[in-house]
Order: sequence, then C-alpha cells, then structure tokens
Amino acid sequence: MKIDILTLFPEMFDGVLQSSILKKAQEKGAVVISTINFRDYSTNKHKTVDDYPYGGGHGMVLKPEPIFSAVEAIPGYDKARIIMLTPQGERFSQKKAEELSKEKHLIFLCGHYEGFDERIRDHLATDELSIGDYVLTGGELAAMVIIDSVVRLLPGVLGNEGSAKTDSFSTGLLEYPQYTRPEEFRGYRVPEVLLSGHHRKIERWRKKEALKRTLLRRPDLLAETSFTQEEKDLLEEIIKEIENQK
Ligand code: SAM
Repeated sequence: MKIDILTLFPEMFDGVLQSSILKKAQEKGAVVISTINFRDYSTNKHKTVDDYPYGGGHGMVLKPEPIFSAVEAIPGYDKARIIMLTPQGERFSQKKAEELSKEKHLIFLCGHYEGFDERIRDHLATDELSIGDYVLTGGELAAMVIIDSVVRLLPGVLGNEGSAKTDSFSTGLLEYPQYTRPEEFRGYRVPEVLLSGHHRKIERWRKKEALKRTLLRRPDLLAETSFTQEEKDLLEEIIKEIENQK
C-alpha cells in the first residue's frame, strides 16, 4: 500500500510514523507512507494556502489551488482514494478500516483553519471521513488514527495474524475479557475456565463474555450482527441470568 498525507504540519507525523506497528510495517515494506506539505505548491510569493471566506465570516479557508496541485503531482493519484478529513464526513469505523486496507493507494487531505474550499470536496476528494462528533484543530490527528487502524490490517503487519480478527468490532462484538499471569493478584483470581486447558469450554466462555459485554455496553452493535444458533442460545442464557440478578 502507498499512503500520501497532505498536511501543513508534516512534523506532527514524525513520532507516530517512527514508532511501533507503523514503523515496523514500513520497514517490512507493507506500506510506503509520505507526507507532503501542500504549502510547497502555493504559487503565491508569500506561500499562503488560505484566504478569507467569500460572503464574510470568521476564520480562514483553505484555497483550492495548492491542494489540487499537490494531489495532481502524486503519481497515480487518479486511481487513489482521496480522503478528506472533515467532521462533516462519514463516521470512521472498523468496517471502513477493513475496506480501506484492501486499497493500493490512499491520499489523505488534512484540513486546518475553518476547513476546505467546497470545490476540493466537490471535485477532488473521493471520500470524506470524520473520526467522531467533535472538532479538532486540524486533520492530522484524524489521519493518524485512520492510518494506524488501516495499516495494522495489512497482511503480515501484525505479528499474530489472528489478533486483529478477534479485536472488538471485527467480529461485530466487543472483545471478551483478557487475563495474563499471575493466576491470583491481590486475591483476585483469573476465571477457572481459562486455566482448564479445555479449548471448547474456553471458546464458549469467550463467546458468551463477548456477547454479554456487547449487550451491556453497546447493544446498538447487536442490532447489526447476525448470530449462529449457539450465539442465540448464549444470548438467551445471558438475558435470563441478568433478569435473575434483578
Ligand atoms: N469549520 C469546520 C466545520 O465546522 O466543519 C471545522 C474545521 S476544523 C477546525 C479544521 C480541520 O480539522 C478540518 O478541516 C478537518 O480536516 C479537521 N477535523 C476537525 N475535526 C475532525 C473530525 N472530527 N474528523 C476528521 N477531521 C477533523
């Protein structure tokens, strides 16, 4: 995969791209990530990239020329997904991360100030993504969040391939609780079933805990999930247990 990030603050990416999984993914050649300062594409002698909004109002708006020129200088840009980061975009999700992980080339447009001239949205971007219902100062943090969650899904990037498959949301559910050594910590014991070595029982316990957790914390996710007969039976069992506790 190739990822190009258009930003006015390329230095913000240094720590994130040079650490942990994102660093390893680049070293393994799974992804090539470049930052492009679109100020370099301003033809104005003061290198300005923003201007006052037509019609008046507060703040500054990102001009179309430098952003169009910077994207058009990227080889193969016309076949890439060009993702505008905006609080007005589609809410980013694990499903979207999985979809984007199948692409060969992603270009991220990080906004700033009051945001983008609308013609960038209408005639350049192929996608608009938001990372949540709040307003950031710029698109950089949003791009980092999306890039991290996409790159960890690329083949060979995570050491243990299975780990992304059981993560929360990948299965449509929240992940089951996890424990590690010691067996007992300050009197708090690890659930016995996890120490039993009985794989079928452990799998059933995990499935039940994932369903319970999702039902209690994020019931909205259950509405979008289709269940096996075993899962339906487990859900019934959980609901009965909850009712008995009342
Ligand atoms: N005036 C814009 C609005 O109300 O929609 C907000 C502009 S915001 C201060 C500046 C930039 O930060 C945006 O252009 C966008 O790139 C980025 N941004 C802010 N919040 C975001 C979010 N929730 N998701 C993705 N990007 C965001």
